[in-house]
Amino acid sequence: MNGREQISSPKRTKEIIQRYKFSFKKSLGQNFLIDQNILDKIVEAAELDSSAGALEIGPGIGALTERLAQTAGAVTAVEIDRRLIPILRDVLSPYPHVKVRNDDVLKVDLKELFAEDFAGVERVSVVANLPYYVTTPILMKLLEEKLPLDNIVVMIQKEVAERMAASPGGKEYGSLSIAVQYYSEPELVCKVPKTVFIPEPNVESAVIRLKVRQQPPVEVADELHFFEVVQACFVQRRKTIANNLKARYFPQEGRERLEALLAEAGIEPTRRGETLSIEEYARLSGVLLAAGIA
Ligand code: SAM
Repeated sequence: MNGREQISSPKRTKEIIQRYKFSFKKSLGQNFLIDQNILDKIVEAAELDSSAGALEIGPGIGALTERLAQTAGAVTAVEIDRRLIPILRDVLSPYPHVKVRNDDVLKVDLKELFAEDFAGVERVSVVANLPYYVTTPILMKLLEEKLPLDNIVVMIQKEVAERMAASPGGKEYGSLSIAVQYYSEPELVCKVPKTVFIPEPNVESAVIRLKVRQQPPVEVADELHFFEVVQACFVQRRKTIANNLKARYFPQEGRERLEALLAEAGIEPTRRGETLSIEEYARLSGVLLAAGIA
C-alpha cells in the first residue's frame, strides 16, 4: 500500500467517484464493491501468489484490481468503459505490474492476450466481479477457449451460481450446469448481500470458484453434438427425454428406434432431462452419434 486507504474502502471509493465526476452506467452492470471481507474472500479463493497471474474482467475503479496487485505477480484488467481508463491508470499507478486494457472482453482474442501479458507466468486465474448482463457469455468464452487457466473466481448473480453448481435431480440443474461442469469443478464460496455494492444491484449475488479441469470428466467424441443433445433434452423441462429427443431428432418417426437407442444407452425413456448425469448424457450422445443421428 502507498500509505493511503485501499481503493475499495467506502470513503476512498466515494472520493474517487467525486473527484473524477464518474457517473454509473447501469447498462454496463456497474456495481462497485466496497466490502473488505468479501474482497479478501474472493482473492483468497483464487489461491494467488507472486508466481501467479490474474486476469480481471471489468475492474471498475480498481477495488479488486488493487487487491490482486498486492497478491499476484502480473495483473491484466480488461475494462470496456473508456471513461474508467484514465481513473484506473491514475489510482493504480503505484502498481507497475498491472496492465489496463480498454476492450470488450467478449471481443478480445484471449489467446493473444495470454501470450502477450502472461508469458513466463506459471499459472493464471480469472478473478472478477462480473457485469451481470453478460455473465454466462463471458464464462462460456473463458471455458470453451480452453485457455491455460487454473481457477475462475467470480462474483455473479446468486441464482446463476446455484445453477452452475447444481447436481442432477433439482430444479436448478440444467444445460448450464452440465456445460460448466464439463469444463470445471464449481464450488460456491459465499453468498453476498446487495449492501456491499455502490450502487446496490437488484439481485442477490454469490462468489463461485470454477476449478478448471485439465481433462473433461467424460469422454465425448463430438463436443458440439454432446451439447446439442443436452440442450434438446431441456427444451421442455416438464417433458420426458423421449418426447424432447423425438421432437428434435425423430419428428416424423414412431418411437421404436428412439426407444431402442435409449435402451442401448441404458436410459429409461420416461426420465426427465434434469435427472440425467453428465456421464449419462455422454453415453446418450455417443449412442446417437454412432447411429448417425446428429
Ligand atoms: N471490479 C469492480 C468492482 O468490483 O468494484 C467493478 C465491477 S462491476 C460489477 C463490472 C465492470 O465490468 C464495470 O466496470 C463495467 O464497466 C465492466 N464491463 C461491463 N461489460 C464489460 C465487457 N463486455 N468487457 C469488459 N468490461 C465490462
